[in-house]
Amino acid sequence: MQTRFTAAQLQDSGVAACEPILRKCVHCGFCTATCPTYVLLGDELDSPRGRIYLIKEMLENDRPASAEVVRHVDRCLSCLACMTTCPSGVHYQHLIDHARVHVEKTYRRPLLERALRASLAAVLPYPRRFGAVLALVPLARPFARLLPARVRAMLELVPVRSRPDAAVLVAAAGTAGADSGASGPTEAELRAANDGRRVFPAHGERRVRIGLLTGCVQTVLEPSINAATIRLLTRAGCEVVTISGCCGSLVHHLGREREALEFGARVLEQVDTEQRRGGLDALVANASGCGTHAKDYGHLFRDHPLAARAADASLRARDVTELLVEIGLPPVREPPRVSVAYHSACSMQHGQKIDEPPRALLRQAGFVVREIAEGHLCCGSAGTYNILQPEIAARLRERKVGNVARTGADIVATGNIGCIAQLGTGLTVAHTVELLDWATGGPAPPAWLARRR
Ligand code: SF4
Ligand code: SF4
Repeated sequence: MQTRFTAAQLQDSGVAACEPILRKCVHCGFCTATCPTYVLLGDELDSPRGRIYLIKEMLENDRPASAEVVRHVDRCLSCLACMTTCPSGVHYQHLIDHARVHVEKTYRRPLLERALRASLAAVLPYPRRFGAVLALVPLARPFARLLPARVRAMLELVPVRSRPDAAVLVAAAGTAGADSGASGPTEAELRAANDGRRVFPAHGERRVRIGLLTGCVQTVLEPSINAATIRLLTRAGCEVVTISGCCGSLVHHLGREREALEFGARVLEQVDTEQRRGGLDALVANASGCGTHAKDYGHLFRDHPLAARAADASLRARDVTELLVEIGLPPVREPPRVSVAYHSACSMQHGQKIDEPPRALLRQAGFVVREIAEGHLCCGSAGTYNILQPEIAARLRERKVGNVARTGADIVATGNIGCIAQLGTGLTVAHTVELLDWATGGPAPPAWLARRR
């Protein structure tokens, strides 16, 4: 695609990054077939190609974002299915990221919209604030029908299943044997890890030393995921050092560039400290949305004083399943007789191009892995998308739930907290590491225990 940017426009680093991306697009439209919003809505402007045109026009003409551009940019899930499909290698991720920043800077949204977005940015990345808000959810549930659709969408994402209490988990862990590393971190240790640095030594000989991104929303919604990850990795010979706080991904998807860099900088400073303390062989994410974001730090910080550290952190970033394939799964104790429908999060399959490692590990752990039809289509989670675009998100969720149900599997495995929240209200969903931990000596995932009660 021909572009007409002036030399002055190309002084802007964001525009300069977009120009070669736009030039690569040959208008072929292959990407439309796999774009969830085009598949659902059938509008060219809700396809990758249509959005690329809108963004190009806006940037080339130095225009503030119009209501039309905002509508179609907002409807994009940033699922990146288009990047997997595109034969020309168009880096749509960096283009839509820049468009969101441009929208945030040049478009004044209606008051309620601004308030909602500001509230999400002020609450979700902060576990204590988010935890306090969640505590109020049971009070709001009886009035759900009276609330606006977006608030209802938020309530629906909060798990309602009866959670097994700590005693059940400890009892389940105890059955696995004292030398297995099954008991793992205590609740107090996990809480401390969310607030700051904790070190969990390897069981037996230390093979690698890794930094684990503990994250934000996940620590509140499903603290069992970090517990399972630490048990599994320490059992596999990792010394695990926690890197606490939000990685910046949540606010990044809202176009809030400055805040995203501030969150990212806090992560990079911790990584740098650990590098100097004892070295880090990898920066590990157990939420694929965070992993995709961390792998992009090098690009996001390209004009920042932390550019070199960011590039180094990106090179070290791994999804937990990538690391486990490299270092090997701990010995499988007693394979649970459970069939698993593996749901590959968009940030896993499209953002990081990780397809086989989670499936291979689940099979190695003894699970029967079933494929979900239309596996390339997003479940509608997409960061805060299911709150900001509840109708489209609900349609995608229903489609995914139907495809999962047709597998007849006992449980769904996935590697991203957003998908767990999106699908967990209708299905039994566990994180992949919870299942791997279970098979190698840890307790059964809380979702599984709750289902069997
Ligand atoms: S990121 Fe997803 S929703 Fe957005 S244009 Fe690409 S395929 Fe469509
Ligand atoms: S598949 Fe790639 S080259 Fe073709 S229209 Fe889509 S983004 Fe452009």
